[in-house]
Amino acid sequence: MEVEEAGGTSRRKALWLLGAAAGLTALGADAARPSGGSTAVAAPTTTPRARPVIHPTPTPTPTPTPRPASWTAAKLTAAGEPIRELSELSPPPPPKSIALTIDDGPSPMWTPRILDLLAEHEVHATFFIIGEQVKEYPKLTRRIADSGHQICNHTETHPISIGGLPRKRVRREIVQAHDRIADVTGIVPQFFRSPGGAWSKTVLDLVAEHGMLPIDWAVDPRDWARPGVGRIRRALLKGKENNILLCHDGGGDRSQTLRALETVIPKMKKRGLTFVAL
Ligand SMILES: [Zn+2]
Repeated sequence: MEVEEAGGTSRRKALWLLGAAAGLTALGADAARPSGGSTAVAAPTTTPRARPVIHPTPTPTPTPTPRPASWTAAKLTAAGEPIRELSELSPPPPPKSIALTIDDGPSPMWTPRILDLLAEHEVHATFFIIGEQVKEYPKLTRRIADSGHQICNHTETHPISIGGLPRKRVRREIVQAHDRIADVTGIVPQFFRSPGGAWSKTVLDLVAEHGMLPIDWAVDPRDWARPGVGRIRRALLKGKENNILLCHDGGGDRSQTLRALETVIPKMKKRGLTFVAL
């Protein structure tokens, strides 16, 4: 049982500022690339938003660092829409890449089994995790990160109605989850997925403001509804190069998801596809 440290607020603030600074460094590096130059993600220069401007001074460990991505996501699509295909990232990933994203964890029941399966096949995935569950299962959260998977922001409480929520509430959902993830793993999330894929201008604006890219999916087997292993498997197997696949390790009994992935992952690898984390 891990306990939230007392006096975490000021530490979180420091972590956030460090994170913002780290994010700026990364963006600066991107801007230096010949193919970079996106203005759409320059929003972090507006940080720290409503928070007081305090120059970061030496802070306690852990020092959050942006997780090294397989490639640098530096560009939003022209319309600022959420990303559904790996080819929308800049620079694009290597040929024959496919991304498995796993939402709504960590779950003490299913996440370890998924992690074992991914390890068995030497596959890296992307986990969109919920802040409240990070608080409850910090060790498991660290295990995901330590296994080399990407950790991303999926809000603090997973409000399905996020598309209609006021700006203040959306900001809180994003910031609280960010702070928990940074506190527990030392990782500054670079990607965000809206609960249920519900996007609004407010959500997209705030995601950009916090230096993250909005991520959707191309293939949805609706595994959360437990339609049967066969249906999940068939839907996932329609996935092809550059697709972002959606699966879940939280929110209920995920045995069907697990069983489907047990065959889908090796089959896709056999087709020459390479699973990449964002
Ligand atoms: Zn979700």
